[in-house]
Amino acid sequence: MTLTQLSAELQPKKEVFWATIFKRFAWMYAITAVLLALIIGYAYQQYTQNLEDKMLSQEQAFVSSTTQALQQEMQTQLKILQMVTRSKALSSFMESGDPTSRQGLEKLFINLAITFHRYDQIRLIDMQGNEAIRMNYHTDGVHIVAAKNLQNKHDSKYFQEGIKLSRGQVYVSPMELNVEYGEIEIPYKPVVRFVTPIINDKGEKLGLMVMNYLSTELLQNFRDQMELRINGQGMLIDPNGYWMSNHDRSNEWGGSLEDIDQKFENLYPSAWPIIDSKEEGILKSNKGIFRYVSIKPFSLNSIGKYVAEQDINLSVTQQSIANNDWKLVIFLPNVTIHEQSFFFTTFGQFTVIFIFLGSAAILFLILLSSEQKRRQQRQDLLIKNELSDLYENSPCGYHSLDKHGIVLKINQTELNWLGYSRQEVIGKHFSDFLTAKSTGVFDAFLEQLQHDKSVEGVVLEIQCKNAHTFFVSTSATSILEKGHFAIARTSTFDITDRIKLEERLAYIANTDVLTGISNRRHFFIQANDRLKQETDISVLMLDADHFKRVNDVYGHDIGDDVLKMISSTLRSVLPKEVILARLGGEEFVILASGLSAEKALKLSQKICIVMENTPIPVNNKADINITLSIGTAQRIAYDEEIDEILKRADIALYQAKTTGRNKAIQSS
Ligand code: GH3
Ligand code: MG
Ligand code: MG
Repeated sequence: MTLTQLSAELQPKKEVFWATIFKRFAWMYAITAVLLALIIGYAYQQYTQNLEDKMLSQEQAFVSSTTQALQQEMQTQLKILQMVTRSKALSSFMESGDPTSRQGLEKLFINLAITFHRYDQIRLIDMQGNEAIRMNYHTDGVHIVAAKNLQNKHDSKYFQEGIKLSRGQVYVSPMELNVEYGEIEIPYKPVVRFVTPIINDKGEKLGLMVMNYLSTELLQNFRDQMELRINGQGMLIDPNGYWMSNHDRSNEWGGSLEDIDQKFENLYPSAWPIIDSKEEGILKSNKGIFRYVSIKPFSLNSIGKYVAEQDINLSVTQQSIANNDWKLVIFLPNVTIHEQSFFFTTFGQFTVIFIFLGSAAILFLILLSSEQKRRQQRQDLLIKNELSDLYENSPCGYHSLDKHGIVLKINQTELNWLGYSRQEVIGKHFSDFLTAKSTGVFDAFLEQLQHDKSVEGVVLEIQCKNAHTFFVSTSATSILEKGHFAIARTSTFDITDRIKLEERLAYIANTDVLTGISNRRHFFIQANDRLKQETDISVLMLDADHFKRVNDVYGHDIGDDVLKMISSTLRSVLPKEVILARLGGEEFVILASGLSAEKALKLSQKICIVMENTPIPVNNKADINITLSIGTAQRIAYDEEIDEILKRADIALYQAKTTGRNKAIQSS
């Protein structure tokens, strides 16, 4: 990655950042919301199930007690009917039929009506269907119907059914509204007719005993019980599906009123077939829950738990049982269940909303922080990579050394210079990669880091794996541990070119261009150094004799060549450690150490002889013989400067010149 890309990467891109967050949030929240919905949905179902079970169990006691009460009431009617049929008053009347016995029977009927308030009519009907005695019960009183007002009931259903019965059998009509003279009596009088034949000792059927049981109070009791319930929606339904009791009174008695729409099936069409066909159960519909039970008050095998009186010898016909196959239905509409449900309270709904919104907020915050963290880590990594790249591939070498000079770390650039692999370098002493003459410098460099915070520009010569060497400038910073130098963090720059240039410049600065030997400047530098190091110093001043003539005769170029030859001849004569320089023009100087004055003079004389006997070829034709005049001087005091020695040598030279040339004279 380039720096431009890196800087672009590090720039905060807000749009992309938020787009990433929102995109991630969208799909993660979609999953979260689905999961939450499933969990809450499951919790709602379980909760509602429990609630419904609880509400239904609360109905259980009511269902039992109501069923029992209805059965008991009906069984009681059988008991009273039995009592009447076995009564003395009835048998007396049936035997004699005189007014006294009639009055006795009428009195019995009246007493029953007054005592129980449940008989709308009690009648004795003869075999032709004529009412023989009839007691009518009204709220304003009880009276016996006059003979002229008695009716013939031959065509009535209950007469037809009753006449077929044998001793001890009872026909019970369905519960229906009473009809008088073809009209439904107002206010409604729901009645159940109990009919049983009267048979004498000879087994002759004499008539029918008919008791109209007035169900008003029974149903009112039922409704009162309903009112005590949560919603009052309990109902009693006849075998045809019409309501005998309903919380909405206007729905009642559809059968009697011949209003065929006014039935349970019309209101709950899908529920009815199930409720109708089963004895009891629980039915869930989309409108609510039905708890239903069959009540057959005359079938003691039915679900009713009333224990019948042992002394009832009357038996109810199967049709009577079927006529009164009632259904007690308790309905819990959804709205009622919801009213009891936590999920439908404001708090419950707020809680659900809070769970969804809260989880969204938490998810969003988690995503926000993780994305920020991720970006930060990515940026850190990029910077780290970039820094690592900068370290490894920097134009200069980097390495870290411990206090003993062992390589702890090294960058790729320096490894490339050395030609070693990293494994070959790490753990080695850095001196192993230096030339012998640099090891001392390196030791001093390391020593300096013990005291100084940093060291700069130390030149070391590196020894590569392939034996190649080159110079580096090394700088280091010390890292302290517990106040002591522990690690040197070092940078190295290849300075080979610089060294070469410096050497070149030094050569140029120190060398006489024509002859290639040291120039005047370099002579003084070397001479001063030698003066410091050595005690015995001899200086020889040399001047070519009559050199002007060479130029004049052969030209300046030949003169130059002759000067070169003089210098090379001198170099060949002189030992290596002797300093030779051209002072200028055709003048040379020699500085030798360790020579006595005598030996210095002998050397000068030898030079004169060699030069004289070394003919110099010119233009490949003639040879020139050059002679030299030499003045020598010894250092006579340790603190004597080179200038002073030179001055004395120059004086001696002058003497050689003036006394014939081609000779050497020792300064006195
Ligand atoms: P003497 O024996 O007294 O030294 O005589 P001389 O001619 O050598 O002395 P002088 O000092 O008068 O002349 C020196 C001559 O050397 C003058 C000049 O032409 C010549 N010369 C000096 N430098 C150079 C040079 O670089 N090249 C050439 N070709 N000639 C030089
Ligand atoms: Mg001269
Ligand atoms: Mg000369």
